[in-house]
Amino acid sequence: MRLGLPILATGSVAMAAASLYYAVFAVRSQWLGPTYWRGRRDRNAVALTFDDGPSPDTERILDVLAAHKASATFFMVGREVESFPGIAQRVVAEGHDVGNHSYSHASYLFQRAAETQNQVRRAQSVIAETIGVRPLIARPPYGVRTRAYFRATRDLGLQTVQWEVAGFDWKRITPRQIADNVLRKTRPGSIILLHDGDSEKKVSRKNTVEALPLIIEGLRDRDLQIAPLSQLLAAKTENLTK
Ligand SMILES: [Zn+2]
Repeated sequence: MRLGLPILATGSVAMAAASLYYAVFAVRSQWLGPTYWRGRRDRNAVALTFDDGPSPDTERILDVLAAHKASATFFMVGREVESFPGIAQRVVAEGHDVGNHSYSHASYLFQRAAETQNQVRRAQSVIAETIGVRPLIARPPYGVRTRAYFRATRDLGLQTVQWEVAGFDWKRITPRQIADNVLRKTRPGSIILLHDGDSEKKVSRKNTVEALPLIIEGLRDRDLQIAPLSQLLAAKTENLTK
């Protein structure tokens, strides 16, 4: 069978490509480095996380969280912290956790290692200098993790946190649909992904703001507490302000 070998070779190349795809993109992959995608299942608690801010919409999300006495986690983009320092400061002042979501939201996938390191480090120092808190958690843009990303985060003592449940609020869907996406999949320990900013600066997060009360009330109807990520994971953010 002369065709045997090439078919076998093509098959294993495809398998290697699939493995690489899994390692880099699959939210729950642990292959390249340790990654949290959920918290403990033995408590009735879940975490709300917001990516890509701060932005003007972050203020309205903070208003909803305050009205419902709920704590959340904000994975901030360094460049946006520079644009909206007062809003970033408000996030911390109101007791929410903060994570590192890169400096400019470029995917780490095809970056040189030095650039990835720069993205992670620059975001870390902008956040620390602006709001006085040094994050201990990171989430890479688009959830894409590479070896260079794990080297950079390990050097800074950052733990990686992905998510279990997405609201899909980057799609053009209604607040009710965003809330249903979350409520359908959430169980104890779930880490929920939402957005308070838009990395491409094309859409407002009005629908996420409107979905948030539906989500919070829906979770509480099911006796699920909304806990800061630090409680769900037993990771902590270090407060640099005295
Ligand atoms: Zn993002």
